[in-house]
Amino acid sequence: MFISYFSKVKTDIMKNYLLSLLALMCMGCSPKSVSPTIAKSTAGLKADAKIMKALIIDGENNHGVWPMTTMMMKDYLEQTGLFTVDIERTANTWQGPHHDKVEGITDIKELLVKYPLPNKKTVAVEEPVPDPDYAPDFDNYDVVINNMGWKASTWSTALKNKLHNYLEGGGGMVVIHAASNSWGDWPAYNKMIGLGGWGGRNTESGPYVYYDDKGSLQYDKSEGPCGSHGPQYEYVMDTRAPDHPIMQGLPMAWLHSKDELYDRLRGPAENMRVLATSYSDVEGNGPPWDKKVSGTGRHEPLLFTIDYGKGRVFHNALGHMDYSMECVGFITTLQRGAEWCASGKVTQAVPADFPTKDMVSVRKWKG
Ligand code: ZN
Repeated sequence: MFISYFSKVKTDIMKNYLLSLLALMCMGCSPKSVSPTIAKSTAGLKADAKIMKALIIDGENNHGVWPMTTMMMKDYLEQTGLFTVDIERTANTWQGPHHDKVEGITDIKELLVKYPLPNKKTVAVEEPVPDPDYAPDFDNYDVVINNMGWKASTWSTALKNKLHNYLEGGGGMVVIHAASNSWGDWPAYNKMIGLGGWGGRNTESGPYVYYDDKGSLQYDKSEGPCGSHGPQYEYVMDTRAPDHPIMQGLPMAWLHSKDELYDRLRGPAENMRVLATSYSDVEGNGPPWDKKVSGTGRHEPLLFTIDYGKGRVFHNALGHMDYSMECVGFITTLQRGAEWCASGKVTQAVPADFPTKDMVSVRKWKG
């Protein structure tokens, strides 16, 4: 990691040098003389900021909408002017059935055509099929955005170790929604994500973690299933760590747009800090498709951080569908969370259109 840290610094210095050189070369040029590729890749980057490298990993997710949500998150990160964003996709792509209607799309498989990955040959499969050649170079990035989901194929030991070593040595990872469903039988991954749901997780995975009505954080080791949610609706997010860089300046309560509210997550919860919770109503958050299950009556952690070795993880359990990610609360916490994972600080201001306790705020994504 020592070597890769310096190579990362070296890469950044080189990149800043090249960007400056490019700016000098372009002074006085007519816009036509700028290569469209270069113009596109540097557009929007903040001239005075250290440009960081983000990597989105995807390809296998029970939420079939993932080809679109990956592009949405890429766009949101690029909008900050702080990141360049690459995508590493598994060669065998699986779009699972857990999604809702996407506007203008008849078959969810159209999304892979609508949002393709240039220069990557992929094969759509009906059930997850491991890709033995999948080998993202985590060390080349300041932060990894994890957009995998339930039933993602088991990684090779080498790849598992690569992610572990990357984070242990000071890397960053943002965990999005169903990425907490992946790899329940991988103990190190459960430590990285703090809490998870489904994926074979159970009482052995660790305690339920929640805030009680008195505002006290509880660790409950009692037996029970791991992961549930009710129908989708708008719900209030309550800030629990207003002093954390990701949360500074955000309202103490804000209304999140239509989404699933994950509850009953369990995990090692080591070195974990809860940033925001939402209340799982006993009746309101019970799944209509399973009358035996109710909501928890607990304040469930939906935004939290984990210190993993020298690395930083931001777990964002929001983001079931495209419309959930259009919430300015989701966008802002993704952007700030990624910056914090990559650098340990947040320089972005809270946007003026951030939701209030009573009003959702949505930015329609243009695609
Ligand atoms: Zn979901």
